[in-house]
Amino acid sequence: MTLSVVVPLYNEEENIRLLHQKLREALDPVVEEYELLFVDDGSTDGTLKILEELQSKDNHITVLSLRRNFGQTAAFAAGFDFARGEVIVTMDGDLQNDPADIPKLLNLIKENDLVSGWRKKRKDPFFSRRLPSMIANWLISKVTGVKLHDYGCSLKAYRRDVIKNLRLYGEMHRFIPAVASWYGVRVAEVETVHHPRLRGKSKYGISRTIKVVLDLITVKFLQSFSTKPIQFFGTIGVLCDILGFLILFYLSLEKILRGKDIGGRPLLLLGALLMIVGIQLIGMGLLGEMLVRVYHESQRKPIYVIKKILGPEIK
Ligand code: UDP
Ligand code: MG
Repeated sequence: MTLSVVVPLYNEEENIRLLHQKLREALDPVVEEYELLFVDDGSTDGTLKILEELQSKDNHITVLSLRRNFGQTAAFAAGFDFARGEVIVTMDGDLQNDPADIPKLLNLIKENDLVSGWRKKRKDPFFSRRLPSMIANWLISKVTGVKLHDYGCSLKAYRRDVIKNLRLYGEMHRFIPAVASWYGVRVAEVETVHHPRLRGKSKYGISRTIKVVLDLITVKFLQSFSTKPIQFFGTIGVLCDILGFLILFYLSLEKILRGKDIGGRPLLLLGALLMIVGIQLIGMGLLGEMLVRVYHESQRKPIYVIKKILGPEIK
């Protein structure tokens, strides 16, 4: 098996047949061995029935049917777990991505570990989709330091080992290039065509923006501090404590030396608050440190990633 194409499908009954046909047209001439992994993400329409019918006629197809709607990221993750190809390509199942672009990605994956599509002429509504996405792309590239034009494009190609080392949560699939490049993975970008959605409904609205921003915070935090939480929480905590201590020290002097009444002063409240928050933050950092150890040691997760090992096989 050389190529696996993973397609998440949620209520896409009107698109599947054409999608399958276009995938065959695009792949048959250029790829010898491939599989099509259609992930039915708990569809409530005829999606699964059509998939079953196609599967019975075409041996390239594997259908994964999830018990309920788990979301696009989870559907991708399911596909990754079952993919057998050396290269794994993901795309949307609504024909907004074009299967005809896949050979272009396959060309580039020869010299890279991850190739991401760039919907340069994106055919989506401006205010509800393209504008939030422009802001999100700008934010993500600033925060993660990985420069891509279009993180949200589902059409991507990965080398197998990139995907198999990755765990996905939330709306995380758009951050795979960022996460992967911290592992030292070579990431490339290529322009791909984008079509308007002709059939079926889009599953997302503007509310996704907030989820993406929250996921971005998670990703950034994990990138910077996942192996050293005390440094993040502890630093803020210590600063709060120092400030709180200075304030309380000053108030104590006022009281003891000058005999002033400090009971009603707002500063007192602030000082006490800073002290408490500071101690809490340091505590959180320590808890984080324990979690990190549990996480890495219980699962034998290394804090490094190996590309290859040269030398006699080590057992
Ligand atoms: N999708 C899915 N599960 C969901 C939502 C979407 O598998 O909960 C699939 C959907 O069927 C499509 C792809 O993810 O193949 C992208 O969805 P959509 O076209 O609605 O997103 P948009 O292109 O509007 O960003
Ligand atoms: Mg779409």
